[in-house]
Amino acid sequence: MSNSIVHFINGQKSPGTGERRQDVYNPATGEVTGSLHLGGQEDLQAAVAAAKTASTAWADMSLSKKSAILFSFRELVNAHADELAAIITAEHGKVLSDAKGEVNRGLEVVEFACGIFEQLKGEYSDQVSTGIDVFSFRQPLGVVAGITPFNFPVMVPLWMSPVAIATGNTFILKPSERDPSASLLLAELWKQAGLPDGVFNVLHGDKEMVDGLLTHPDVDGISFVGSTPIARHVYETGTQHGKRVQALGGAKNHAVIMPDADMTMAAEHLNAAAFGSAGERCMAISVAVAVGEAADEVVSRVKDLAAGITVTNGADPRADMGPVITPASKERITRIVGEAQEAGAAVVLDGRDLVVEGHENGFFVGPTILDNVRQEMTAYEEEIFGPVLAVIRVDSLEEAIQVINANPYGNGTAVFTSNGAVARTFQRKVNVGMIGINVPLPVPVAWHSFGGWKNSLFGDLHIYGPDGVKFYTRGKVVTQRWPEPTSVSGASFAMPSTSDH
Ligand code: NAD
Repeated sequence: MSNSIVHFINGQKSPGTGERRQDVYNPATGEVTGSLHLGGQEDLQAAVAAAKTASTAWADMSLSKKSAILFSFRELVNAHADELAAIITAEHGKVLSDAKGEVNRGLEVVEFACGIFEQLKGEYSDQVSTGIDVFSFRQPLGVVAGITPFNFPVMVPLWMSPVAIATGNTFILKPSERDPSASLLLAELWKQAGLPDGVFNVLHGDKEMVDGLLTHPDVDGISFVGSTPIARHVYETGTQHGKRVQALGGAKNHAVIMPDADMTMAAEHLNAAAFGSAGERCMAISVAVAVGEAADEVVSRVKDLAAGITVTNGADPRADMGPVITPASKERITRIVGEAQEAGAAVVLDGRDLVVEGHENGFFVGPTILDNVRQEMTAYEEEIFGPVLAVIRVDSLEEAIQVINANPYGNGTAVFTSNGAVARTFQRKVNVGMIGINVPLPVPVAWHSFGGWKNSLFGDLHIYGPDGVKFYTRGKVVTQRWPEPTSVSGASFAMPSTSDH
């Protein structure tokens, strides 16, 4: 019997009234482990009403009380990190150590939100005109929804909810249908931390539920993380309905390997960045752009390392890499590799036929390396989101930068070099939001913000960190005068200027 995965609305688990169900799998075994309740219209209305009702009191609660709840939540997530990681591995497939790392990166954002006082300090201008002061401060939007992808079922909800909640909003999480269970443990932990009912809600569903949130008049803001076509749809629909939207999309991240790079370091990091989490990271390196004589050496070294990767159930401590998320994903990855081969790419390492002993029904693809890839191949044009590293060979740094800048995505990129001038040219000239210099997964820490350029982000503000605070709040400016009883009023029909007084 598979377990029922329900909503969390107004502080309570709720089966909801929607009749549709969706199977949730353990991708390492192929077994159905859960039956997800997809919400209907009434569930949407109930969750939004709960969040709206809770929003006034939550916005009015003092920063010190809010911060105390955030600190408790931080302790609870930390105490349940192993449990959260086990849930991630069981539904997503990534290896346990990686799942634990995901929880830790999410915790960083909770820690940032614990210090929200610092972020919400306003600005004050004394005596801008005689007897007049001007000050500005920020207030919450109201009800915000977070729509999240399958690949980080804990970290991405924690990129959003701690900052949204700490800044005084109430939050509705619409998690991925593929690995929804961790969101319910997060909801329980928020409640145990003392968060009032209705401030954090979980509403399950698919396109129908997302579209319901995007058009609901009582939802004020939307944070989305997922693939580019859906990010574009979410941005366009949400903004058309008057909402503030940040929509982070897909990626195709390039790492440039210069001939002067430390080849041992470059190969080890490329191997981990391409095949860690089976390539299902928005910051995975999926393209190696090898410059000049770096190419033969880097391909041969990464091939040797990747051939030694242990692929099995992520819950097995020996595992370096787990399965991909669905049979459809496996089929798509193997098809794209086949198309690249037909178009002339060399399959240097082929993971298409991998069968994992004892897990014959799991959705496994082994590490795969494609050499001599060209920009017009589907393996280059599409985000594969699997354990496939495409290698493009170029002659110079300039050519490498041209390749990166011609790509429609702009999430992350990296350069491996021992030359500071090369690194500086690279960081200044690439049209990409997050840059790594000898760091292949340049995921910024929580007190900076995370976001790409071009088709990797729709909206103006990046997620979490200082940009997250701006996204979840609106500025207010107050111009004030407390006249002495004897002073003149200063009223005028002309536009007042500071020199008038
Ligand atoms: P996805 O776009 O399929 O799903 C994301 C969310 O959108 C889910 O909650 C899903 O229910 C919802 N959704 C799916 N189809 C929809 C539709 N037609 N209309 C409305 N909502 C819909 O993404 P995914 O496969 O879960 O996640 C992988 C993708 O997310 C990759 O493209 C990856 O690069 C991207 N991603 C990006 C970042 C980033 O920071 N830029 C981070 C993580 C993942």
